[in-house]
Amino acid sequence: MKIILSGPPGSGKGTQADLLVTKYNFIHFSTGDVFREEIAKKTPIGITVESYVKDGRLVPDEITLEITKNFLIKNKNQNIIFDGFPRTLPQAQGLDKILLELNDCIDYIIFIDLPDNEIVERLTARRTCPNCGAIYNLNFSPPKIPDICDNCGTRLIQRPDDTEEIIRKRLLVYRNQTLELKTYYENSDRMYVIDGSLGRDRVHQEIIKILGLA
Ligand SMILES: [Zn+2]
Repeated sequence: MKIILSGPPGSGKGTQADLLVTKYNFIHFSTGDVFREEIAKKTPIGITVESYVKDGRLVPDEITLEITKNFLIKNKNQNIIFDGFPRTLPQAQGLDKILLELNDCIDYIIFIDLPDNEIVERLTARRTCPNCGAIYNLNFSPPKIPDICDNCGTRLIQRPDDTEEIIRKRLLVYRNQTLELKTYYENSDRMYVIDGSLGRDRVHQEIIKILGLA
């Protein structure tokens, strides 16, 4: 089975992907991970990718798709979750073409969604320990003493990524890209949208119901 899991930052998409990997033996595909792997192994394509990453440039779609194809050939007949990929229409079309060549296809496309205001509320409540990396949420999992890390006593910070202005900018980018993807996938009966505000466990239940694993 091949599925695409998409969701804005703060939707809990990463947590859901982890649950599927742990409970149902899915293999997790994220472009960041496979880029790092190719770079570490110093493969020809890894060296090309590194030249882009080092300069902070976007890796072109054709290179991303080539790496994806290699990954799919290597992991033939496995259950795979595409996490945060494809991100754009050309990537989605490229992925479909590769899968067709491999006599395979995407079985389900799942969008976990939340209203922008709820995402902003979730993410601006996030606090990070600059010393040990622990992450807190003032609403769901606050530290025992306000602003102080439970583990190491360091004063917590709000990461620059977690301010409302930056979150709204990232959301805008996500919404524009997703609109394109939803239009591409929506004519198939494989696309589902789940309400992310249901919380971790109920979202997980919804997903396994869609996948026929319940
Ligand atoms: Zn700490």
